[in-house]
Amino acid sequence: MRIEFYRHSINEDDIRETKKVLRSIFLTTGKVCTNFEDIFSSYTNINHTVALSSCTAAIQLALQALEIGKDCEVITTPMTFIATSTAILHAGAVPVLVDIDKDSGLIDPNKVEEAVTSRTKAILPVHLYGSMADMISLKKIADKHNLYLIEDAAHCIEGERDGVRPGHLSDAVCYSFYATKNLTCGEGGALSTNNKALAERVRSLRLHGMNKEAADRYTGTYQHWDMLDLGWKYNLDDIHASLLIKQIERLDENLEKRKIVYQQYAELFNDLSEVRLPVIYDKPAYHLFTIQVPKSKRDPLLNFLGHNNIGCAVNYRAIHTLTWFQKYFKKSNCNELRKSEDFGAKTVSLPFYPDLKPVEISHIVTTVKNSLNSIPF
Ligand SMILES: *Cc1c(COP(=O)(O)O)cnc(C)c1O
Repeated sequence: MRIEFYRHSINEDDIRETKKVLRSIFLTTGKVCTNFEDIFSSYTNINHTVALSSCTAAIQLALQALEIGKDCEVITTPMTFIATSTAILHAGAVPVLVDIDKDSGLIDPNKVEEAVTSRTKAILPVHLYGSMADMISLKKIADKHNLYLIEDAAHCIEGERDGVRPGHLSDAVCYSFYATKNLTCGEGGALSTNNKALAERVRSLRLHGMNKEAADRYTGTYQHWDMLDLGWKYNLDDIHASLLIKQIERLDENLEKRKIVYQQYAELFNDLSEVRLPVIYDKPAYHLFTIQVPKSKRDPLLNFLGHNNIGCAVNYRAIHTLTWFQKYFKKSNCNELRKSEDFGAKTVSLPFYPDLKPVEISHIVTTVKNSLNSIPF
């Protein structure tokens, strides 16, 4: 039996939407993108969405549109994909890493408050594995110190915690439609915000700071465009956007299916003392299923699963332990991040998607048990 780490749920309905675009004359950012932005905004219940080429681009543009750049500090977590911090660096700002809560892996609001300086301009939490960071506490800190709040919701379109959904307490929220995310078109992303001026600035920055997009130039008689800002090439095209439209309608039913998969895993791992599951809050988006195992057994377990044709991954080793960041943070004196290092050394991600079958789940759990039993301390 071979069990893939991830299987997307793109179906014939989605492919039909893309065929329509491919058979039309207009391929880049146009009506289909706008349609996607509207449908996505109504799903997330946030006023404005700007479709982008990635979540990395969304984070960078959120910061740039809010004038957070040179000499500005942005407080974030090391327990995330590198893009959270590389986007801060691409905006010209300085990522300041603070430690996590050891049980959930989420950014610790107490550590955030301790890290605020006169240069701090924003807090950038990550909703790890689909479980939301404590947005109510983070919002209080942001208000007290007059900071922006920007969310990395690459794992969390569907989640909710304490009655709060992504984007509802923050200035902007950044989403990813990368190949393994809950909503995917291979590569893509979006920024959503209730701030109209911010949305318009990001809309301009995503396409070279031009005041007209291809769709405006395509319709009607030719109009001169102007360049008002120094922007980037981060727009999403209609081909990619078309794949997302029908998938949005299935987000909730896929979430329910992943919740059942999660519960099956949790039950089967219940009697295994060497396996711990990260604590989850309220209504997570159930994006990744991860377990925590003893440090000495983590890499042998990854190897064992690989040899048994079970896809697995590590989300994540704390980013400041990676070579480039080690050099970068040496200069700027990294905060103590022991819990993140520990969490990242114990974590393993197992296959997790809506159509993962019960027999596959029990085979995976049995294989994990066999592996842990066969590895001496
Ligand atoms: C996938 C991911 C990103 C980057 O998303 P892209 O769309 O690939 O740029 C950022 N943050 C987290 C937590 C992610 O998982």
